[in-house]
Amino acid sequence: MGAYSYLETDEFTGGIVFAKSNIEARRIGANLLNMDDIGGMEVKRRKDLDRFEETGVPAWLLVSEGWRFECLGCGMQINEDEMEDAGLPVTGIVGVEHGHIYCCHVCRMQRMAEYAACKAFGEAFLDMLKGVVTARFPDIEPCFGEYRHHVYVPTWCSPYVVQQAKVHFSFPGMKIGPASLVYQHQANAHGSRITGPVKPEFYCCNGDREAFEALAGRSDQ
Ligand SMILES: [Zn+2]
Repeated sequence: MGAYSYLETDEFTGGIVFAKSNIEARRIGANLLNMDDIGGMEVKRRKDLDRFEETGVPAWLLVSEGWRFECLGCGMQINEDEMEDAGLPVTGIVGVEHGHIYCCHVCRMQRMAEYAACKAFGEAFLDMLKGVVTARFPDIEPCFGEYRHHVYVPTWCSPYVVQQAKVHFSFPGMKIGPASLVYQHQANAHGSRITGPVKPEFYCCNGDREAFEALAGRSDQ
């Protein structure tokens, strides 16, 4: 397959695709841009980029030709002018087209560190929720392993907060599906903080209500 650049000429968006022919490249490009027809697009053969079919085309190379991207870390527009203003070399741009692209390695490292910290924070929170379940039902051994758990820790909030978390667990007498302990932070507008304790709540499937309430009643005594 060969490399082709495609460019939609109204808004000047486009990219590089690998295709067997110009017309195929045109179709792929139109599809990627959600265009109804394949007119209004410039498609050019780029033999020099053929060697990037396996790896993806380096973003810095495209930027040096006038393309632009957005940094996944700091959000800055990555183009030649912005890079120069920021004192960053174009060759230091990290990533390939259609992948995660960063203005520089430092930005990527920071982003990865934040992501890892959020992930660890969320996992520890799930462990805590599991502890709440175990403490609430001391006479059963809740099984957490088979079910999908969920936690959401937004990376833009510092210090970290959990906006949503859910653990599922099985219990004796369960027929329909696992019960869950759900933590939901309602005030989740951008930039908001938790202002007070949010109480996690138990849920169960409708058909299992009786069995679950019986269990809850037993554990109350
Ligand atoms: Zn950046």
